[in-house]
Amino acid sequence: MSIQDFFNIDSEVRISKGFLFSCAINLRESTYQVIPNSLLPVLSLSKKKSLNEIAEMIGEEYTSAFFNELVEKKIGIFSQKGMKDKQKNILIKTNDLFVSNVILEINRNNGDYFRQLFNVGTEAIMIIIRNEDDFREEIISCINNCITITSLQILTDFDVFLKYKEHIMSYEKLGLIICANSNENSVEQLNNLNIVKLSKSINEVIKDQSTSPSNFSISKKNYIESLKYNTYLYGKLYVNSHGDVFNSPCSDRLITNIRKDDFSESIREFFYQSSEIKLSNDFCDVCKDCEYRNVCVSARIPVMRGNREGYFEGECNYNPYIGKWDWEIGYSSLSECGVTSDKFGFRIDKKVLKHKIKELWRN
Ligand code: SF4
Repeated sequence: MSIQDFFNIDSEVRISKGFLFSCAINLRESTYQVIPNSLLPVLSLSKKKSLNEIAEMIGEEYTSAFFNELVEKKIGIFSQKGMKDKQKNILIKTNDLFVSNVILEINRNNGDYFRQLFNVGTEAIMIIIRNEDDFREEIISCINNCITITSLQILTDFDVFLKYKEHIMSYEKLGLIICANSNENSVEQLNNLNIVKLSKSINEVIKDQSTSPSNFSISKKNYIESLKYNTYLYGKLYVNSHGDVFNSPCSDRLITNIRKDDFSESIREFFYQSSEIKLSNDFCDVCKDCEYRNVCVSARIPVMRGNREGYFEGECNYNPYIGKWDWEIGYSSLSECGVTSDKFGFRIDKKVLKHKIKELWRN
């Protein structure tokens, strides 16, 4: 990098400011870079001052490392002149309050009812096949050939996968196969197909509420939805083997049954009335302070507290108050950091948290 250059943020980048860190998200390139909040002023300076001038203020080594990393992650580019940061308005057509993703259990009794899902805007389907006898080639082929379906995934038992491997691998739209009850945990890539083998059971996979960067969805659609809705629940459905329809595998509130004539109306009404769906991360304890709140699609259902805010019954694997995942050295739980979130409210013991941050980040 020539230190005389300017740095310009990409017009498709949005910055989500968290408690300690911020996340710069490039919505066109689907990349992100975490930035310490202390460096945000440096970033905004880059619009007005050359990197040479900034290096004189904070040190050349520091400046190069910071801006080179941002260029690598496509957050911005170096140029000869400082340009005005003109962020485009993101215009995107969404299926307003309707279905986008469905988890569908298929079996011998499904009949043709699954076709109802084609009329409600479904774009992505994950099919669950629990047993050998539940494999229904005609249903999977029909879903694979439906022009409105853009993404197809299969979650099945490893033994079922082995038995029907040839069939399964032939579906053109299939992007992911998850084989539960495998004797190993591994990921294999075959052309454009990801084969994930997990030792967990099918139920453990669909009810897994742990969060990690693999739950992030970096897209314009998800970003826009995250500003207004809970992205795990918004436009999502789970249809069990009896045809009963729920918002997600973790929801216990029955919406309707896929065999009912008023299936579409019932779903519309549910999406319209559900308070949890309208609870974006900005209104949920802890997530509201997290830099990942506009990319994270965590399988955690908030509990309403009053009309306009929510909390979670368990802790996330990420603690935004210290900027650590639970597998990282230095991680502490929320309670160890003086953060309490429950049905009574949200509280931070500033003294305890300040001490934790100092202990962890003093260097
Ligand atoms: S704190 Fe919330 S937004 Fe942040 S990673 Fe966890 S679930 Fe996602």
